[in-house]
Amino acid sequence: ATPTAVMVGTGVGATQGVLIKGGQALESAHKVNCIVFDKTGTLTIGKPVVVSTKLLTNMVQREFYELVAAAEVNSEHPLAKAIVEYAKKFRDEENPAWPEARDFESITGHGVKAIVRSKEIIIGNKSLFVDQNVAIPIEAEDILAEAEGMAQTGILVSINGKVAGVLAVSDPLKPGAPEIISILKSMKIRSIMVTGDNLGTANSIAKEVGIESVIAEAKPEQKAKHVKDLQASGYTVAMVGDGINDSPALVAADVGMAIGAGTDIAIEAADIVLMKSNLEDVITAIDLSRKTFSRIR
Ligand code: ADP
Ligand code: MG
Repeated sequence: ATPTAVMVGTGVGATQGVLIKGGQALESAHKVNCIVFDKTGTLTIGKPVVVSTKLLTNMVQREFYELVAAAEVNSEHPLAKAIVEYAKKFRDEENPAWPEARDFESITGHGVKAIVRSKEIIIGNKSLFVDQNVAIPIEAEDILAEAEGMAQTGILVSINGKVAGVLAVSDPLKPGAPEIISILKSMKIRSIMVTGDNLGTANSIAKEVGIESVIAEAKPEQKAKHVKDLQASGYTVAMVGDGINDSPALVAADVGMAIGAGTDIAIEAADIVLMKSNLEDVITAIDLSRKTFSRIR
């Protein structure tokens, strides 16, 4: 393609809300034959909501959620925002501030820890609880499994080293997501889902969207490693993601595509930004590249 054609291609992209950072990104996109999708905020809307709470303590919901919100209000994670939003239901109107959290710690891809009202609060997934040596009672395991079967994410909460409750959070698919995956299939492009979420929930979401290959419980560096493994086996790989945790994979991919509504770090790491935050524009970008670079017109 001539430099003019590339300029035109990039310009057309911009008018459609597909921000292409340079000629190389536009060129690479037409060779893509495998797309790695992040789950949360990419395939799903990314605005999770708490749909159920099971308490394994004699605390009432108001006391429980006050401790949980005090810890999660310090986290940027979409799950944390969902939990804090839900906790507001129980908040005292007269005294709306959350209690102070000390020693807050965010464990990327796993959850959070803090001391609230002299109690140690841990919130997150099973592997966090294993790492922190908190035993998971059978009852909690059952609640987690049930949530995962319904494509929800189960979140464990411990207070002073004992599991005190399990929350279930639901984050529905973006509208049209299954159609996009099926169009990509017809374009001979393989779709893969990678997520930090657990395998049960990941499999349920993958089934809903029509993706057969799933990599779950992946840390940020592991997401990048999967991209590199696919490249090593001969694929030209695009990565689509929205989170800080997707940045290494966005950089590793032949074409990194960031969801416009995502974090600044992901947007910086990407070669293409999908300003409308929809999945259709993954196809818009590839089509534009094919039109610009294919010999047959
Ligand atoms: P994804 O790849 O789906 O965007 P992450 O890697 O960010 O997911 O997180 C993986 C998992 O870690 C979540 O599904 C959740 O179980 C747990 N987790 C992460 N951050 C938090 C948090 N702030 N509160 C509770 N759980 C969390
Ligand atoms: Mg995400």
